[in-house]
Amino acid sequence: MKTKEQEKRDQYKYNRKLKQTIFNHYGHKCQCCNETRYEFLVIDHINKDKKIPRKSGKVWYIWIIKNKFPNNLRILCHNCNMALAFFGYCPHEKEAYALLT
Ligand SMILES: [Zn+2]
Ligand SMILES: [Zn+2]
Repeated sequence: MKTKEQEKRDQYKYNRKLKQTIFNHYGHKCQCCNETRYEFLVIDHINKDKKIPRKSGKVWYIWIIKNKFPNNLRILCHNCNMALAFFGYCPHEKEAYALLT
């Protein structure tokens, strides 16, 4: 018999492994600002494709792996992901643009 604590830890390890598999495919950094700290990174839908289900956590990770890593997904950090969701752009893009002009 496993204790609840052990089960929790197993779940956590399993989740991390799934996430790791996905990150191995998409890269281990934010596609916008190159953030590499694992804890900040999330999987983002490019163009909010309707065919991609809105899931989270384990179900979502398994879905991605089963669907052979759809290429309209990418890795972003929470900052960039949130900025895009709220404002439709990330301030990093503007900064990059300002450097060019
Ligand atoms: Zn970022
Ligand atoms: Zn950004």
